[in-house]
Amino acid sequence: MNLYRVIYSSYAKPDLDIQELKDIMEASTKNNKEDGITGLLCYGDSMFLQLLEGDQEKVSTTYHRIARDERHHGPLLIECQSISKRLFEVWSMQAIQLTDLNREQVNNIVLKYSGSALFRPNSMTPLQCVSFLKEMATLFQLSDSVILEL
Ligand code: FAD
Repeated sequence: MNLYRVIYSSYAKPDLDIQELKDIMEASTKNNKEDGITGLLCYGDSMFLQLLEGDQEKVSTTYHRIARDERHHGPLLIECQSISKRLFEVWSMQAIQLTDLNREQVNNIVLKYSGSALFRPNSMTPLQCVSFLKEMATLFQLSDSVILEL
């Protein structure tokens, strides 16, 4: 398998609600499990940041399907590259809503990587995105927030 990683950001549609996030998670978990894709999806300040990793063709097909989804717009490809190992191999897809985590800790991490109080992944470098997602995953695992876990 040619192991590959895609990272992108996008803007959520203005009135996105919790049920729509759950629908996204449900389809993601099911499809990604079948396709051997793992990764992480962060949602905050009306923006998404997602990392997808797995077989190059499967990741590419999945990204193009996601990019057409009307629940978000303006997808920006931040990174597409071959990788030697996965970062999030235990998660077919885990969605983390920033407002579900400790506000002060989230604010500090957002400020560190976004350079502003608002979560703006489209202004982050690929390396910053990876570091941000790893810190969020750690924070999520330490919290009791399982609202979007299916
Ligand atoms: P379906 O059975 O077609 O749909 C499942 C449910 O989702 C439906 O009940 C419907 O209510 C809803 N839905 C589906 N498509 C849309 C749409 N375009 N607009 C509004 N509602 C819709 N999919 C993945 O497979 N893997 C991912 O990692 C992934 N990440 C995503 C990240 C974001 C930010 C967004 C917005 C979507 C993501 N999706 C992901 C969903 C993807 O865009 C497709 O909707 C999904 O893959 C279709 O899968 P399906 O045919 O099995 O689902």
